[in-house]
Amino acid sequence: MVSFFHGCRYAGVPVLITLCAIVALHFSQQNWQSWQSSIDYAPYWLLTITSLLAIQFNRSRLAYIAGLLLLYYSVVNQQWLTDNTLALYQDVWAVAIGLVIGVLLLTKDRGLLSPHSLLRGAAIIVCFGLAYLWLRGLDDINLFVQQKLGITLDPMVQIYAPIGLVALIVIARTLWQANLVNSAISITFGLWLMHTLQPQLLPLSVLLCVVAVAYLLAILIDSYFLAYRDELTGLPSRRALYNLVLSLGRTYSVAMVDIDHFKKFNDTYGHDVGDQVLKLVAAKLAKVTGNGKVFRYGGEEFTIVFPRKNTDETLDHLQGVREAIEQYQIVLRDEKRKQQTKQTRGKANSKNQQTVSVTVSIGVAEHLKGQTFDQCMKVADEALYRAKKKGRNQVCQ
Ligand code: GH3
Ligand code: MG
Ligand code: MG
Repeated sequence: MVSFFHGCRYAGVPVLITLCAIVALHFSQQNWQSWQSSIDYAPYWLLTITSLLAIQFNRSRLAYIAGLLLLYYSVVNQQWLTDNTLALYQDVWAVAIGLVIGVLLLTKDRGLLSPHSLLRGAAIIVCFGLAYLWLRGLDDINLFVQQKLGITLDPMVQIYAPIGLVALIVIARTLWQANLVNSAISITFGLWLMHTLQPQLLPLSVLLCVVAVAYLLAILIDSYFLAYRDELTGLPSRRALYNLVLSLGRTYSVAMVDIDHFKKFNDTYGHDVGDQVLKLVAAKLAKVTGNGKVFRYGGEEFTIVFPRKNTDETLDHLQGVREAIEQYQIVLRDEKRKQQTKQTRGKANSKNQQTVSVTVSIGVAEHLKGQTFDQCMKVADEALYRAKKKGRNQVCQ
């Protein structure tokens, strides 16, 4: 359910951009003509930049699709194409891009020159072959039905059938394996479908600009999260901490939090359980009251910054979070329980459920005049050392 909402959130931005583009175009029909030639050129630039950035940031799936759209746009604008060739070209691409999107959504980003990626390149070529054969085959079926039954099938049926299949993959991936890149690819599918069925709603050039902007946003936001979020706990990383430091005023407090005897915990339960516990402790810390900003400093150490607070004002909040962690009975997930059905799981939970708990020690210090952030943090670290010495599971200042 949580991923469902994540999916909706990730899909929200590109959908919003598309709606804005449609509304803006609708209300600026008169001025539109004077912008026409610049907008006609924009997809070339935007899609080229997007492909290059996608390669640079290892988002090979976006690089593939942006490259393909660029190729499609370049060919479709050629004057020398006859109407028949253009129509066949557009039909094949209408189906093929749908299939390619399906393939890309079922695979992961890999280095563009890795064997996996080359295999995917081959799969994309197969998609085009299949799209062509599908359309040719259906032409024969159409002819047969027409001759025998006198009925002409709607040509759109040709497009709907394979694309309907891909639509299921798109919906599943967007809602249940939400991430920015998947959503950007899915949104391409929606826009591409719109272009196929209602080409007059949004000119192809504008549509491709929207797609390219969605890709650029996905690449930039994704890279931001890569740089500033800790992957395991989802908390902001040490780099994000030093970013916050730039905006801190004179008054603030810094708390250093360290899990007690975590090495022993890892040795007893294994590194995977240790990771599980780190995540849960991070989630508890993130709920600290008093406007505390929590960061994973590294390993099993966390930093909480309280802007505009001296140490006395932070103590209740820190004690609160320390107690919450101490009282938290962490239920261990084990493989056997995963295989049990929902019905038996309830019973198993009440009988063989294994719970563990950990404690944290906290040292806190307030910023003094003339101190740098690092010096203030060092004082907090010394307070943490005292908390450990005094027997752990406590807050020292
Ligand atoms: P103390 O109470 O004095 O803090 O004892 P400690 O064992 O927690 O301290 P120490 O610094 O010696 O050990 C920290 C351990 O934290 C070592 C390492 O195995 C574990 N650790 C650090 N990062 C991770 C991680 O990302 N995942 C897991 N599972 N363990 C980690
Ligand atoms: Mg430590
Ligand atoms: Mg420790």
